[in-house]
Amino acid sequence: TINNQIIQTIVTQMAEKIHQEKDYLTELDSAIGDADHGVNMDIGFQAVLQQLPQWDLDQLTLKALVKKIGFTLLDKIGGASGPLYGSFFMQLGKDLTDEKTVDLPTFYQMLNNGTAAIEKRGKVALEEKTMFDVLQPTVKYLIDHEAEPDYQQTLTNAQKVAQEAFDHTTTLFPKKGRAARLGEKGVDKADPGSASIKFLINIICDTLK
Ligand code: ADP
Ligand code: MG
Ligand code: MG
Repeated sequence: TINNQIIQTIVTQMAEKIHQEKDYLTELDSAIGDADHGVNMDIGFQAVLQQLPQWDLDQLTLKALVKKIGFTLLDKIGGASGPLYGSFFMQLGKDLTDEKTVDLPTFYQMLNNGTAAIEKRGKVALEEKTMFDVLQPTVKYLIDHEAEPDYQQTLTNAQKVAQEAFDHTTTLFPKKGRAARLGEKGVDKADPGSASIKFLINIICDTLK
């Protein structure tokens, strides 16, 4: 079952990973954007890390916790990715009421809500070379395989789906955000937002195993 402690573990590990990979993410963004994705993400997740101890995890519902995380990210990340990561977390708990724990299929549905929020907020479709290209197929894989008894294997397979989807973004022509201005020159370069979302997916899957 998924509870506030697991969400806390996920965002804490994400903050650490983003901090370690800050230069890598910014390097990817320097080839295709304005060289700030690592900086933006680090500011946002460090802000979450700072606020977490002030939140009463025993009292908060899951819906309230993910909203707080999303609001902090929206407020602090900035750039194009701030509203996208912000809406992702804020919409995770959309269908919940006062739950403090959810089962795995419900959690996968929450991830689907977050993915739909990015799709809507970014007005993005598949094959436009954004984080949506990694998130959408991975979450779809989890939902399509949620009934399989070996859930750990499903999570491992989902991580492979995310890696393949990330590699595929390199071949795509950018159609959204700053990278779209590059046109043809944006092909053969990895998408920074797809790299950060792959880190999040890997952490979520490892934590759930
Ligand atoms: P900015 O481009 O404003 O500097 P970031 O560098 O932090 O913002 O984030 C860039 C990432 O945001 C891109 O690599 C891409 O994955 C994602 N992105 C940009 N625009 C969109 C969009 N409309 N829909 C989905 N994702 C997007
Ligand atoms: Mg940028
Ligand atoms: Mg920017």
